[in-house]
Amino acid sequence: MTTSNDTTATAVVACPFCQTLNRVALGRLDDRPTCGECRKPLLLDRPLKATDASFEAIIQGASVPVVVDFYADWCGPCRLMAPTLDQFASDRAGSVLVVKLDTDASPATPSRFGIRGIPTLLVFSGGKEVARHVGVAPLHELARIVDGATSAG
Ligand SMILES: [Zn+2]
Repeated sequence: MTTSNDTTATAVVACPFCQTLNRVALGRLDDRPTCGECRKPLLLDRPLKATDASFEAIIQGASVPVVVDFYADWCGPCRLMAPTLDQFASDRAGSVLVVKLDTDASPATPSRFGIRGIPTLLVFSGGKEVARHVGVAPLHELARIVDGATSAG
């Protein structure tokens, strides 16, 4: 089982500036990881962007659970969900990876996972979907979904 004290935990994240995929040591976030390409900081205490191009690498590359928020800019409930995801990402930095996928910009991934409404939250562990929640979830429910789906691992 992976915990926040697991110094060997790693995740693959897309640089928000140049989109380069970087492998980050989650046990050393205090060292302020930077992008290997553009040297800008990789901040894991907030949701990171995923696209159709990067999704598989991010999901398969994480040794910690990954929460994916399928959203769109025009979706009001998605905007309600955003601060909760920000808080959750901050609370769980280093132990859970939180990513957001814009379903308009990246339609192939939501189609592949049969996403019909947004926001939809998918939880992945070991590269596999382990939980799904359709609609807005408050912070305590989000925590329960993630912990309930991953505690057995
Ligand atoms: Zn970069």
